[in-house]
Amino acid sequence: MTNLTEPQQQAVDHFEGPLMVLAGPGSGKTRVITHRIAKLLARGVAPNSILALTFTNKAAREMAERVDSLLNGVRVEVSTFHRFCARLLRRFHDHVGLKNNFTILDSSDQVALVRAIMKDVGFDTTTHDPRRILNRISKARNDLITAEDFRMQHEERVGDLLDAVVYEVFPEYERLLLHNNCVDFDALLLHVVDMLSGNDELREYLDLQFRFVLVDEYQDTNLAQYRIVRALSQHCPNLCATGDPDQSIYGWRGARPENIVQFEQDFGGTKIVSLDQNFRSTASIVRCADQLISHNPRRHRNALHTDNEEGPPVRMRVYSDGEMEANEIAAEIAELVNSGKRKYSDFAVFYRVNALSRSVETALSRHQVPFQVASGFSFYERAEVRDLIGYLRLIENSSDDVAFVRIVNRPARGIGDKTVQRLTEYARQNGVSLLDAAAKAADIPSLTARSRKPLKGFSDLIHKLQKKAESGNVRKLLERLIDEIDYFKLWKDENDEVDTDRKANIYELLRAAELYEDAQEDAEHPPSLQGFLELAGLTSEADSVDEHKGAVTLMTMHAAKGLEFPVVFVLGVESGLIPHERAIRDGDPASFQEERRLLFVAVTRAMEELNLTQTRQRDFRGVRRYTIASPFIPEMEMEVVAEDDQPAPQMRQPSALDEFVIKAKQRYQAAQSVPTAPKIMSAADLEKKLAAMKAGSAPDDAAGAAGDKGIEADRLRPA
Ligand code: ATP
Ligand code: MG
Repeated sequence: MTNLTEPQQQAVDHFEGPLMVLAGPGSGKTRVITHRIAKLLARGVAPNSILALTFTNKAAREMAERVDSLLNGVRVEVSTFHRFCARLLRRFHDHVGLKNNFTILDSSDQVALVRAIMKDVGFDTTTHDPRRILNRISKARNDLITAEDFRMQHEERVGDLLDAVVYEVFPEYERLLLHNNCVDFDALLLHVVDMLSGNDELREYLDLQFRFVLVDEYQDTNLAQYRIVRALSQHCPNLCATGDPDQSIYGWRGARPENIVQFEQDFGGTKIVSLDQNFRSTASIVRCADQLISHNPRRHRNALHTDNEEGPPVRMRVYSDGEMEANEIAAEIAELVNSGKRKYSDFAVFYRVNALSRSVETALSRHQVPFQVASGFSFYERAEVRDLIGYLRLIENSSDDVAFVRIVNRPARGIGDKTVQRLTEYARQNGVSLLDAAAKAADIPSLTARSRKPLKGFSDLIHKLQKKAESGNVRKLLERLIDEIDYFKLWKDENDEVDTDRKANIYELLRAAELYEDAQEDAEHPPSLQGFLELAGLTSEADSVDEHKGAVTLMTMHAAKGLEFPVVFVLGVESGLIPHERAIRDGDPASFQEERRLLFVAVTRAMEELNLTQTRQRDFRGVRRYTIASPFIPEMEMEVVAEDDQPAPQMRQPSALDEFVIKAKQRYQAAQSVPTAPKIMSAADLEKKLAAMKAGSAPDDAAGAAGDKGIEADRLRPA
C-alpha cells in the first residue's frame, strides 16, 4: 500500500457506498482500482464478492496480476464486460432462451447473416451494403432500441431507404441469432440487460453476490453496460467507477460519457474523488496534452499538472513522405537500442488507421527491429483460421447454421450453393438445424442424388468430432480435425508464400489452443472447447500486446487507451487522418471533438518522449497526395523539425481546415444556445453538471437535481 497520494489513498480506503474517481490521464485511476481491490481483500471481503470490469482482456489480465502481486496468490474476478456477460449467460442461459453451448459470431459472420436475410427478403445487397445495415442495427441495439421500437420509429420516419431495409432485417436477425443458439457482441450485453431487468430475484441474487463492483474507464461504457452495473449495485451500491470525460473515444460505438454524470443521480451519497497529478509523463508532455484538450469546449476542467521533470520538448517531425517517415523512425529506434540507451519495448508507434502500419512494419523489419502489431482480430479473422474456428463452433453448437454455411464446402466437397439453399428450405420447413438436415440428406427429395452423400459424410464427420470434443482437449481435437479434413493438403506448395503463410497460421492456432490449455491448468474451470471458443471470439485489438516480448509495439490510437510507453511516435498527424476524414466530412463538431480526444489519449501514453510526425506527401489508398497538417497541431506547444531538406512548414498558416474548425466551432456554439430536450443530457448539460461537481455547488439544471455531493471533490483535491 505504498506510493499513494492523499486523494488516491482516500479512494482506496473508501469502503462501502458509491465512489467515483474522476481524473485525467496518468493520474493513477487504474492504480486506485487495483489497490482498492487489495484493500477490500485485506478488510476480509471475500474474493468472489468482488467484480472488476475493464475494457480489454489485456487490462483485465494486468489488473489480476497486480492484485495477485499485491496480495500473494489471491484471485479476483477481473474481466471485460463481454467476457463477464458470456460467463453469466452460460450459467443463466435459459432465462433468455439460449442453450448453455451458445457460440459467438464474429463480425464477418454477422455480415454474412445480414446478407443472407437480405437476399431472403429480396433486398439487393449491392445497393444496400449489408455492413451499413448491420451498423444501424448495432447502433440501435447499443441504445437498447429493440426491433419493435425501431419499427415504430420507422413508421414515424418513412422515407429513409436504409431504415426501410433495417426495419425488415432487424427482427429477423435477432430471431435467427436465437434460433442458431448464437450471440454477437451486442447480444452478449443485451441478453444480460434483459435477464437482469426481467427477473428481480436473479438480479438481487447477483447483486448480493457481487457486493463490490469496480469499473475502470467508465466514460466509455454504453447504455447496456451502464444498465448492467447499475442493476448489480442496488442492494449493495458499492460501485466504484473511474473515468475521464476527456478520454471518451468510443462515441461512435455507443459510449455515453454522460453515464459519469448519471452516476451521481443514480446513487445517492456518491463520494467523488478527483486526482489532478499526472505521474506518467514529463512536464512538457503533460503541458502539450493539456493545451490540446483545453480546445474542447469543456469549460471547467482542472488543468493537468505534474511534478515530473520537464524532459525534452515534444517534437513534430516532418518527413517528405511515408517511406521516409517509416524508415527514419525505424533507424532511430535501432540506433537508440544498439547504443544501449533504450530497449525495444520502450517504443510504441500509434496511428489513426490500420493502413499506416504497413510501411512501418516493413521499415522495422529492414532494420531488424522486433515488433508486435496489436491487431487481435486479424489473426482470428484470417480465412483459414476462421474456417477451423467455424468447425469448432459447429462441433460445440449444432445449431450454429452460420458456421455450417461457412464450412460445409471448405475444403470443397461438391456441396454447392444450390444444395445449401435446398437444405436451408428443408431445415426451415421442419424446424431443424442445417446439420440435422444434412444428416437426413438421403430423405430430402429436393436434393440431387449427387449431393446427398457428401452431406451425410459431412454430418458424420461433425458427429464424430463432437464425441472427440468431450475430452476437453482442444489441441488434440484441432489436430484430429485438421487430419480428417486433410487441411494442410490445401496449402502444400512449400515455395508459395501464401501457402506457407496459411500453414503458419494454422500452427499458430494449434499453439493458441495449447497456450489456452496451459493457462487453464490452475484456473477455476477446466479447459473446454467452449472456453477456447470464447477466448477466440472475444479477443480484441489490444490483447495481443505483451510488454515482456522485448519488441516495439504498433497499434491504433484506440487500442492504446490505458497503456503507457517511455517513447511514443504518433504517425500521420495530418488532416484527414487525425481528424479522420469522416469527421471532417460529417462537419459535426461532436465527432471533431472526439478526434481531438483520441489524439489526447495518444499523446498522454508517452512517459518520457513524444514525437508526432507528418509527411509532406502521402500515399493513401493508392494515390499520392500533398498533406495538410492536422488542425490540432497549432493547438499544442512543440518543436517543429523538418527531417528533409525543406524548410519547416508553417504550422499556423490558416488552411481550409482551420476555417472549417472555426465554422464548426461557430455551429457548435449556435447549437449550444438552442434549448435541448430535457430527457437526454446534452454535452452542454454534461459540462454544466461536471462544472458543478467540481465547484462543489448544486447544479441548477433539472437533470442535475441530485444534490451537492460534489463538495467532496474539492476537499480531496491535493494541495
Ligand atoms: P489513464 O487515464 O491513462 O488510464 P490512469 O489514471 O489510469 O491513466 P495509471 O495508469 O493508474 O493512471 O497510472 C499512471 C502511472 O503513474 C503508472 O505508471 C502508475 O504506476 C504511476 N502512478 C500512479 N500513482 C502514483 C503515485 N502515487 N506515485 C507514483 N507513481 C504513481
Ligand atoms: Mg487507466
